[in-house]
Amino acid sequence: MALFDVHAHLTDRRLAADEAGVLARAAAAGVGTIISNGLNPEDNAAVAALAARSPLVKPAFGLYPVDAVLPELLASGHSYPRDVEGEPPDFDACYADLERRIDGAFAMGEVGLDHHWVPEALWALQEERFRTLVRLALAADKPLIVHTRKAEARALEVLLEEGAQRVVWHCFSAKVKLGERIAAAGHWLSIPANAHKAENFRLMLEKLPRDKVLLETDCPYLGPEKGALNEPANVAGTAALAARLWGATPEAVVAQLGSNFAALFRAAP
Ligand SMILES: [Zn+2]
Repeated sequence: MALFDVHAHLTDRRLAADEAGVLARAAAAGVGTIISNGLNPEDNAAVAALAARSPLVKPAFGLYPVDAVLPELLASGHSYPRDVEGEPPDFDACYADLERRIDGAFAMGEVGLDHHWVPEALWALQEERFRTLVRLALAADKPLIVHTRKAEARALEVLLEEGAQRVVWHCFSAKVKLGERIAAAGHWLSIPANAHKAENFRLMLEKLPRDKVLLETDCPYLGPEKGALNEPANVAGTAALAARLWGATPEAVVAQLGSNFAALFRAAP
């Protein structure tokens, strides 16, 4: 059994600049699978190309919750920091991209609800589009990798209303009570590589049902050390932390996490 990273952005230019090094360090750290998540059609194309040339990388195709309403957000005069110039693609184009890619996807992600960047006037539209994407994933029998920011309770309602069971919560407000509700609903939660210094995530790793825990980095974001670029190899540090918190051997932790991964994704990591 190998370690894994369920949520990476290897197509980010900071990581792509050292692709071979990033993948080699992951493999050396015992990582057998990295799920690289797409944010929009352009990024999904890069994820597909990367997965095609690297056996370590599995493709998740998605539409970032802000990108899902980005044309409307910009048209309404709100600003959003992004590195691409020009008109973002509209939802119909993004949906068509996902519809075309979904059969070849390891998972759909990332998708979700973001109430931090998206103004309240667009929450209903964002939710309707999230629901549409959840239905596409369910119709194709693909697991979902979900990002939520300040919208966790609503996202859980939508997912349960739609009957989504194979779901991993990637970016979420790490409150133990909420995590326990999500786990009780049958979903999985991924713990980031900064858990050793983020008290809330450390607590979640300690308290959540162990069969519902997965590992992620969200690299290049959320590095375990300030200023350093995050990368998939860092999941090994979280696995070591789990071994300490669980009072388990490293082998037992890898086996537990690997069987959790297999239960969600129906493939060994
Ligand atoms: Zn992400």
